[in-house]
Amino acid sequence: MSTVPFLDLGAVNRPILDEITAASRRVIEAGWYIQGQECQRFESEFATFTGTRHAIGVANGLDALVLILRSWIDLGRLKIGDGVIVPSNTFIASLLAISQNGLTPVLVEPNPASFNLDVAGVEQALTPQVRAVMAVHLYGQAAPMAGLAALCRRRGLLLVEDAAQAHGAISDGRRVGAWGDAAGFSFYPGKNLGALGDGGAVTTDDDVLAAHLRALRNYGSEIKYENRILGVNSRLDELQAAILRVKLPRLDTDNALRRRVVDRYRAGIVNPAVSLPVVAGDEDSHVWHLFVVRCAERDRLAAHLSAHGIMTQVHYPIPPHRQACYADLAPGVSMPVAEAMAREVLSLPLSPVLTEGEVQRVIDTVNSFNAVG
Ligand SMILES: *Cc1c(COP(=O)(O)O)cnc(C)c1O
Repeated sequence: MSTVPFLDLGAVNRPILDEITAASRRVIEAGWYIQGQECQRFESEFATFTGTRHAIGVANGLDALVLILRSWIDLGRLKIGDGVIVPSNTFIASLLAISQNGLTPVLVEPNPASFNLDVAGVEQALTPQVRAVMAVHLYGQAAPMAGLAALCRRRGLLLVEDAAQAHGAISDGRRVGAWGDAAGFSFYPGKNLGALGDGGAVTTDDDVLAAHLRALRNYGSEIKYENRILGVNSRLDELQAAILRVKLPRLDTDNALRRRVVDRYRAGIVNPAVSLPVVAGDEDSHVWHLFVVRCAERDRLAAHLSAHGIMTQVHYPIPPHRQACYADLAPGVSMPVAEAMAREVLSLPLSPVLTEGEVQRVIDTVNSFNAVG
């Protein structure tokens, strides 16, 4: 029995192997591997794509978020101990970026249909301690950015987007990454825009923030060997930038191919024990980083699929407030939406290169699952 992989990155990159090889060769022969033209050009192309004045390449998606918040502290816009609202069902990196800066994650339950923050939930959680909101476009679906941006403006709060899963998604006519005061992207290989190693970027319209980040990522230096701020080493290397420049022009097409797989899943999966994901906005507000279904008997469904050669994953099995590293964050607090999701969610195979036959096998196998309950 052949298997349907959850995500075959070799297959994803195979159609553009020649272009990737040529771009890598160009970098190798140029002999300049860090902070060069490829990164500069990618930054400018990614800013244009996103619709922002600036993009700043960094080493990974976590650093993008860490360095945004760090910059706001340096610039006096946040102070240690301030609260940052973050969804209770997000990937751990969203919270780590807050904690690493001595800020306080303030967990807010997502809307149980969209899996994203909603404006009413955020508004209810506001206290004088809360000075910023981190909107996460989870699984590739844009959070309700027009509403969140209006709320943050009205209340004088900073808005940061964790756009690590949603490159290219459009919310109310604007790309994600162009709504917040700043946004963090990841180019981890499995993301919709993935490098062949680690990479990340910040997008922003804020000239002051952009200049600060450019120094911060490079030892706090604007002029070589002159260090104004206590910086870090977090750079997007030339090889990854060159590969991302090959992939960026194909991103919208790749996202459309993902959407085509998803359209078939949504039309074909009819098992009453399995709930399909809900698209809260327009079709292009979701770029389907993951196709996440819910099932009360999730582990049995995963075992059934696995027995038929279909690989799945769980995003995520333990919510942040139940992680050992966050034992002190909200002791005893229950987050019923996040906890139910952790028990019930299952991510089905999804990529731009999944074949018709593979998609049909997934559909048939999900439909042949017999729930006990
Ligand atoms: C992947 C991811 C990150 C972190 O990106 P890295 O490049 O792996 O550091 C942050 N937030 C979310 C929601 C992610 O999915």
